[in-house]
Amino acid sequence: MLSTDAAVVRLLVSVGGLIFFLILELLIPYRPSTVSKFQRWVNNISISIFNSIILRLFFTVPILQTTLYVNENKVGVLSLISVPYWARIIGTVVFLDFMLYIWHLLNHEVPFLWRFHRVHHSDLNMDVSTANRFHIGELAMSAVIKIGLIFFLGADLLGVTVYEILIVATAQFHHSSLKVPSWFEDIYWVLFVPPSMHRIHHSVVIKERNTNYGTIFSVWDRLLGTLLKGLNQELIRIGVGAYNRPEKLHFHHLLAMPATHPVL
Ligand SMILES: [Zn+2]
Repeated sequence: MLSTDAAVVRLLVSVGGLIFFLILELLIPYRPSTVSKFQRWVNNISISIFNSIILRLFFTVPILQTTLYVNENKVGVLSLISVPYWARIIGTVVFLDFMLYIWHLLNHEVPFLWRFHRVHHSDLNMDVSTANRFHIGELAMSAVIKIGLIFFLGADLLGVTVYEILIVATAQFHHSSLKVPSWFEDIYWVLFVPPSMHRIHHSVVIKERNTNYGTIFSVWDRLLGTLLKGLNQELIRIGVGAYNRPEKLHFHHLLAMPATHPVL
């Protein structure tokens, strides 16, 4: 069944990408770790498994059923216009990525949302496992919004599946601590988000952190004036200022973080 296939493909991309980028990071690291990689991985993989279980229990089926419903009943903006099938898929990916850009910006600008999103930014080093480090509260709100957006757009099931796979793969790449040739980054940066662009977003400096919100495409930051480039990458310190003690960033601390102070 297509829905089961989509979930299996997403899981395979996620686990496969994690192993692929981990091996590359060990072979050609961007820079040495400043805190225990093993402990960070324990935290990030624990929170990822916990999140997967909750999302699977409460959100996977509603998202798939909404997509199937809007496709079968010709609901949403895409059903009002006559476009080729491939254009519907690209349209779904581009629209959902733009909405994710807006949601990410709000996660930084609205204090209540930042309480959840800072769990992601509190990682003291950045590598492929950081792409899995989110608070379940943020992911749950994001899933509810996604259901609304799929309904509004009349998103295609294949389009949503392609989008989900691209989100996982591109987020793993731009979080990875991988030494990427600068000529490749320069070309990639024209349309997409390379590691150096997202590294600026994970800076402890707040005015640097509140830039570069893109996930798949870098064009939203370029068009809406939130792009920041040209920083000395060697000087970027990763994390959230107030949360700088690794022993206070274990799994249970991350779960409780939205309810704690300070919120910088
Ligand atoms: Zn962010």
